[in-house]
Amino acid sequence: MTSPERMKTEEFWNPEHIVEKFWKGLAEGKIYARKCKECGAIEFPPHLACNTCGYHETEWTELSGKGILKSFVFTGVLNARLELEDRGLKYVCGEVQFDEGPAINAVILGINKKKAREIDGKLPVRVRPVFYDMGRYTTLFFELDE
Ligand SMILES: [Zn+2]
Repeated sequence: MTSPERMKTEEFWNPEHIVEKFWKGLAEGKIYARKCKECGAIEFPPHLACNTCGYHETEWTELSGKGILKSFVFTGVLNARLELEDRGLKYVCGEVQFDEGPAINAVILGINKKKAREIDGKLPVRVRPVFYDMGRYTTLFFELDE
């Protein structure tokens, strides 16, 4: 059993409407983040409070989705995204930093071993967003912007 107090805390930090707006946004090709009203730091994925300065108020902002791929790895068997494997997609996981600041671990599509060797010495390289329809939901991946 979860104690009522714990549930209350989770609702505060991860309320339904934040998550809903985020996922609906992706389905419409929009990337929503939260911008701190105090220090201007951008929280992505969106949080209600600022992780940079601790201020409690943030507001909606939209990211371009463009950024740079700073590093990448091929996923091992254990953490492979099986849904992507099933679709026969070539991809790597890497650190993407949005032009607006925040960095995330993301899936970058369209990179096979040969392509990986090509870009390995050229990092960081530009990437752009791919709003990928997984069937039940739309998620955010990236591809090389070239
Ligand atoms: Zn802040």
